Amino acid sequence: MHYGYDGRVAVVTGGSSGIGLATTRLLLASGANVAICARNEERLQKVASDLTAEFGEGRVFAKALNVLDEADVQAFAVDVQDRFGRCDLLVNNAGQGRVSTFAETTDDDWRAEYELKVFSQVRPVRAFKAMLAEANGSIVVVNSLLAYQPEAHMVCTSSARAGVQNLAKSLSVELAPKVRVNSILIGLVDSGQWQRRFEAREDKSQCREDWYADLASKKRIPLGRLGQPEEAAAAIAFLGSPAASYITGAQIEVSGGVSRHI
Ligand code: NDP
Repeated sequence: MHYGYDGRVAVVTGGSSGIGLATTRLLLASGANVAICARNEERLQKVASDLTAEFGEGRVFAKALNVLDEADVQAFAVDVQDRFGRCDLLVNNAGQGRVSTFAETTDDDWRAEYELKVFSQVRPVRAFKAMLAEANGSIVVVNSLLAYQPEAHMVCTSSARAGVQNLAKSLSVELAPKVRVNSILIGLVDSGQWQRRFEAREDKSQCREDWYADLASKKRIPLGRLGQPEEAAAAIAFLGSPAASYITGAQIEVSGGVSRHI
């Protein structure tokens, strides 16, 4: 599929792994130049040099930062302007989930989770919105199905994700008509997060394939498996592209059908 990103510039937060990396790769393959960020400098620079080898010199710009750091995110936007001169798409993807029940979740946990979920949106949007407006660009929020279908064992992530969905809707109104804002709702997608949970499994004799098959069965995923990062990336690339030019304030679920609501 051709998404029409020739001559465009995208920024992907958390572009060094999982969904962010698959999105970066798809956008590069579709003609965009891409700026990525993540905290772990070594992994980020390795990814950037692999992508440069694959897609060519000057197509990727990588900067190590925490998306929660206002000054660093502002400086990143200045770097993107200097390097590429524009920004057509911001993919707010950086983050991770927190597994804890209400009984286990401390006040500090609640604060940290809300800080991550809310400010990983607020800070990049604030830094890039002028450039996005100039380019008639768009924002894609990588959110979770937990926003609509909370899980008791991920109580603060679910609650914060609902807030993020609400924020995306407000942004789609405030930033219109220049900037479109949409989101994807992930169910379970095989990424760094699930790899870490697999490595921490109780029964170490269980192989990766069986552990994932078990998980898909326990979660009653109608398509019978976890999603691949490339499947999330395809929805992100579509929402950010000219093909979605009349879509804003909307969401696409990438969950293998695991949602129970209609
Ligand atoms: P990965 O762990 O594979 O990738 C997460 C990426 O985000 C990494 O590049 C990581 O790099 C970066 N990152 C994390 N925190 C920060 C931060 N504070 N500042 C900058 N970069 C950061 O996970 P996924 O691909 O699964 O996750 C992508 C998004 O999708 C996340 O927001 C996640 O919560 C969401 N999601 C994923 C689901 C799934 O099943 N996979 C389900 C629901 C939502 P580094 O650690 O170096 O900073």
